[in-house]
Amino acid sequence: MTRPIARFITALAALAAGATPLTAAAQQIALTFDDLPSHSALPKGETRVGVAARVIAALDEADAPPSYGFINGGSVVADPESGRVLELWRAAGHPLGNHTWTHMRLDDGDRGPFKAEIALNEPLLAAVMGEADWRWFRYPYLYEGATAEARADVRGFLSGRGYRVASVTLSFDDYAWNEPYARCADKGDAEAIERLEASFLASARASLIQARARSKAALGRDIPYVLLMHIGAFDARILPRLLDQYRRDGATFLTLEQAQADPFYAGDTQTPLATDQLGLPSFAGEPQGSVIPADLDRMCRPG
Ligand SMILES: [Zn+2]
Repeated sequence: MTRPIARFITALAALAAGATPLTAAAQQIALTFDDLPSHSALPKGETRVGVAARVIAALDEADAPPSYGFINGGSVVADPESGRVLELWRAAGHPLGNHTWTHMRLDDGDRGPFKAEIALNEPLLAAVMGEADWRWFRYPYLYEGATAEARADVRGFLSGRGYRVASVTLSFDDYAWNEPYARCADKGDAEAIERLEASFLASARASLIQARARSKAALGRDIPYVLLMHIGAFDARILPRLLDQYRRDGATFLTLEQAQADPFYAGDTQTPLATDQLGLPSFAGEPQGSVIPADLDRMCRPG
């Protein structure tokens, strides 16, 4: 390379570096999936393994980085075949974390069973994850307890066992489309499925716009968002289009560890229900700007 060209390249690089604060405004999203190995209803003919394989293929196609799947070990006992989902997830290079044994909702009064369910999930996580880090916890229903005492108690239990809490700062109730989809698929109602797809993608876009607006209002910037998804049949079907939409809207994907390395997550960010109930300041969590069709629960029902 001749000197003038080298200088030109250096100048270009400096320009690019100077431009970084502007381009860094582009939003980053960590993809996370709850309820492995099985979530919600399956259309006839579909399997848990098939759903997981399609989610993994979509992540691969989008060049998504390793993405956490949060597991309920009890589902594997109930349906041993679904255990293959966890193996596929790992084989594709994605990590697993803890979501309690049976997706238990925390009881504010007696918190012992909740802690026991966290511990019960651990041998399976350790077996599937080996040396990799599985000490990330996602609260079922994002419910952390109604009182500061309950919250602090379980938080203390988790940190004592080496866990970090996986936040949710981007969500649009993705799970709500899975049951209607199973009904509409069984019915062979292609027009209804098209409506489900369109409303899902619109909801995802609206929630991102709203999360960004709240982030900018609260902090003056975009935080890296942690997106809550579920391992459902409709999630699997729509995921390639969802990831493509995020990309076209300017998002890039990063890992949960990378996202939660942002100083925002060093604070106690809360999950949404706790935030609402304790009146703590946070913009995180609750489905934002979601445009769930009003007739979602009625779609494709017989009669
Ligand atoms: Zn869940």
